[in-house]
Amino acid sequence: MLDALVIGGGLSGLRAAELLLAGGAEVELVEARERVGGRLESVQVGAGTFDVGGQWMGPGQPRLAALAHRLGVATFRTYHRGRGVFHVGGRVHRSAAEIPWFGVTETARMGVVLGMVDLARRGVDARSPWTARRALHRDSVTVGEWADETIRPARVRGTFDAAVRVVFGAEPSELSLLYFLSYLNAGGGLLNLTGVERGAQQLRFVGGAGGLAKAYAESLRCRIRYGKEVVRIDQHKPDRVRVRLAGGKKLKARYAVVALPTNMLSHIEFRPVLSPMKARLIEGVEMGHTVKVLVTYRHAFWRDAGLSGELVSDRPPLSVVFDNCDRGGVQPALVGFIVGQAAGEFMAQSPQKRREVVLQQLSRAFGPAALSCSEYVERDWKAERFSGGCPAANPKPGVLTAAGPALREAQAPRRRRAGPVTWKARCWPGSARPAKCWRVSARGA
Ligand SMILES: Cc1cc2nc3c(=O)[nH]c(=O)nc-3n(C[C@H](O)[C@H](O)[C@H](O)COP(=O)(O)OP(=O)(O)OC[C@H]3O[C@@H](n4cnc5c(N)ncnc54)[C@H](O)[C@@H]3O)c2cc1C
Repeated sequence: MLDALVIGGGLSGLRAAELLLAGGAEVELVEARERVGGRLESVQVGAGTFDVGGQWMGPGQPRLAALAHRLGVATFRTYHRGRGVFHVGGRVHRSAAEIPWFGVTETARMGVVLGMVDLARRGVDARSPWTARRALHRDSVTVGEWADETIRPARVRGTFDAAVRVVFGAEPSELSLLYFLSYLNAGGGLLNLTGVERGAQQLRFVGGAGGLAKAYAESLRCRIRYGKEVVRIDQHKPDRVRVRLAGGKKLKARYAVVALPTNMLSHIEFRPVLSPMKARLIEGVEMGHTVKVLVTYRHAFWRDAGLSGELVSDRPPLSVVFDNCDRGGVQPALVGFIVGQAAGEFMAQSPQKRREVVLQQLSRAFGPAALSCSEYVERDWKAERFSGGCPAANPKPGVLTAAGPALREAQAPRRRRAGPVTWKARCWPGSARPAKCWRVSARGA
């Protein structure tokens, strides 16, 4: 019998399989899609390979950097020269700084807000935020409510809201302040999560992050069952699991590692039922809504105009845009993100209208040449059956303090301390802490 079944072939599942194999375990990986990578997927557009899912790596992701190095996947810097465009509070500003110049008073206010956020996140542990001082209170307040009390004037608030939406794929009014602060701590702070130079958007992978996941899978000597959705997990004995696939086939192993985002666990039937705390956690998370848009051009016209290709906007549809040319600029491209409430409204329009509004917004930011694109590609992650959204599963207010510890607790029948079904821990991959953390309970690993 197999020692372990790893469920999910994203980076987390691949890493779990690697650790188990290194411990001498006999492992198989079960993946619902016909590919590995999950929320990482690279596609060919024009002459370049681009990511429709996650794509960047920052200096706070040393383990991911080590993995790329080990696999021989090269990286290159995101283009970040020239001025960015800030369309917030009803006005357009162009600035080379990470923070827009709104005049002395408002720019100073922006600095104060960032300082306040940094102060508030002190003492909120990324792995156990429910242990923080005033955790219950902070978990009952939304980021939007906190910002209503704290952040003025409108342009500073608009910039803050745009940053929050992009990082979480959600509205500030939907996020618990405690979760927000813990997430910032996992990712090195708001400026780091939103920045390019020395920030989370600093580097890209040659061949795409999806290519990295593919290379990772190929490097493992592990059987991968593709196109197999797990629908039920039975753990009828302390060291025995039976995993049922859609279509009825059953697989057996001594242990299972469920390497899925928390929201996807609601699609699996567990026998015996999960602990009330785990069930509360699964019910209480909401995946962010992000639509990623790739637009290719014959020429990187914004670079000629001294622009970096970056846009921050508090007006829909696009919240942020970055230069997305491939290495050496062979295939000129921009990438944009439509997030939170705007993503739902955007997807309700016809495909033709969606393309039109995106190109119009790009032309307002970078000039009329933006209207003449070569190709336009969009990916709505909410519509992805095996992801249900992106970039992360955000716990709703009150959920972290009520059920946070269930994030990493193994599921065991008959109140055993460690059971045969274990979860990968959820950590933002930008974490300065272990970028991907595991609790693998299979013997030998
Ligand atoms: C648009 C977008 C932009 C992002 N940008 C960045 C970025 O720039 N930098 C960064 O670090 N991160 C980014 N992220 C987040 C990053 O992609 C994820 O954190 C990471 O890929 C998650 O990996 P994972 O293995 O934990 O989960 P996933 O990648 O979601 O893997 C889970 C796997 O489980 C499979 N699965 C689901 N249900 C079942 C089932 N019932 N049975 C079997 N298999 C199942 C899925 O098909 C999937 O392959 C972004 C994500 C998106 C979508």
